[in-house]
Order: sequence, then structure tokens, then C-alpha cells
Amino acid sequence: MKKIALYGKGGIGKSTTASNLSAAFSEEGLKVCQIGCDPKNDSTRLLLGHICKQTVLDMVRDKDDDVEAADIVHTGYNGIKCVEAGGPEPGVGCAGRGIIVALEKLKSLEVITDEDLILYDVLGDVVCGGFAVPIREGYATDIYIVSSGELMSLYAANNIAKGVKRFALRGGVRLGGIIGNSRNTPNERALLEEFAKRLHTQLIAFIPRDVVVNKAENNRQTVLQYAPESAQAEVYRQLSRDIMSNEKLSVPTPMTFDELEKLVAEYGN
Ligand code: ADP
Ligand code: MG
Repeated sequence: MKKIALYGKGGIGKSTTASNLSAAFSEEGLKVCQIGCDPKNDSTRLLLGHICKQTVLDMVRDKDDDVEAADIVHTGYNGIKCVEAGGPEPGVGCAGRGIIVALEKLKSLEVITDEDLILYDVLGDVVCGGFAVPIREGYATDIYIVSSGELMSLYAANNIAKGVKRFALRGGVRLGGIIGNSRNTPNERALLEEFAKRLHTQLIAFIPRDVVVNKAENNRQTVLQYAPESAQAEVYRQLSRDIMSNEKLSVPTPMTFDELEKLVAEYGN
């Protein structure tokens, strides 16, 4: 069983990438489970065709100890198991704590059985204790960071790399690469390649910014469903193959903020 996690800044394209990857893996015949760990609850929307209304935390709040696997595991495109950890009511409680509760619940209900691949989609603006759980507790072993060439996205990516490094030294977690998701910034691909190199990892994909992604999203579908013949769909398929065969899993070497700023200035002007 491969256990991977996608981390990155909010809005950078984690859920879009995760859902298209899950669709690609499932089309290869793999049994896939995607777990959204973001209080936005929209990780699996493109796979389900709607926003998940029964998150793990919702169900725990409503049913307490009577929650069953069927309450929280929803079947999406091509039989993909879809789970949303959920979050606290806005304004109360801690989202990170919510992830801990949700993942413990999934474990105790033995939701994951004979899957070939588990994909965690995790908000990574803050690598607080809760959001680090998928890495810290060994839920995921191969970490991928989604980033564009924007400074703040790279800043979040670098912080996530710091978290991965910390837990890599204790356990088996490794960084599998940076997934570039383009925002069409100057010299973006070269910058991301250099950033990956500095972190002692690789740029495993450079996903173009394409309106087909937005059109698919408006139809509540992945690009693989909406435009299976498109070049964009092929980019996601290629990334799914590269993740499956990836042997370059490393302990990252994060940068200081000054080094990062300098790098972005060098490439971005
Ligand atoms: P996150 O899960 O990181 O918060 P999302 O996956 O929800 O981010 O993406 C945020 C927005 O960016 C969505 O509206 C999505 O359609 C759009 N988006 C993501 N990747 C691309 C891309 N490669 N091209 C065009 N739009 C994209
Ligand atoms: Mg998301």
C-alpha cells in the first residue's frame, strides 16, 4: 500500500491535483482512497460530484461512538473511496485538533482495508501539530509539496519541508518532490527546479495553468472525466505514473527565508 500526502499553501491547487491524480490512479486499476484534511471539506468534490456533507467530524459530533464506516466513507468516481476529515464550526475549536480526531476515528473504524493507494490532501499554511499528524504518525510516508513560483507559496513549501525533515529524522517519512502548479510567474519552471534542487529533491511535475481545469471544476468533475483527451489530463496521468515509480525520496534540506527571498528575486525579475 502506497501512502502519499499532498501538502501546500491554501488555494494552490492541492485538491484539484489530488482528485485528478486519484482519478488517474483508479483508471490504472488501483484501489484508491482520498482523504481531505482541510476544514474547507472540498477535497473530494470533483470525485463525488458534490461537496461532502458528511465529514468525519460532523458524524462524530452527531453520533458520537455510534459512527460507522458507511457514515464517513463515500464512493466517488470509478469507485474511489472519499473521506473528508472536516473541521470545527467556524470560530470555535482548532482545525488541527480536528484532523487528529478524524484520523484516529478512521483508524478505529478500519476504513482502510485493501487499498493500493491512500492519498492525504492536507492544508499546509501552518504545520501545527494537527496538520503534521499525517506525517508525524506515519499515516503518509511519501510527501509531495504543491507550489507555484510565487514567494508565499514557496515560503509555505519551505516550511512544510522543515516539518518533513524533522519527522524524517525520526521515522520513515520522505519528500518525494515538488509538484509545480503554474501561476504563470516569470521563469517559473526554472525557479521551481532550482528551489527543488536546493531542498535536495526534484520537480516531479510542472502542471500548466489551463482553463480546462476551471471548466471541469464548474462541471464538478476532474479534468480526466471532463476532457479525457486533453493535454492537461495527460499531464495528470504522467504525474501519477511518475509518483508510482518514484525512487528519489529524500530528507529535505530547507532554506532560510533570506536564501529563499534571494532565490525568488534572482529568477523572478
Ligand atoms: P487547494 O486545495 O490547494 O486549496 P484547489 O485545488 O481548490 O486548491 O484550487 C484552487 C483553485 O485553483 C480552483 O479554483 C482550481 O480550479 C484552480 N486551479 C488549480 N490548479 C489549476 C491549474 N493547473 N490551472 C487552472 N486552474 C487551477
Ligand atoms: Mg483543497
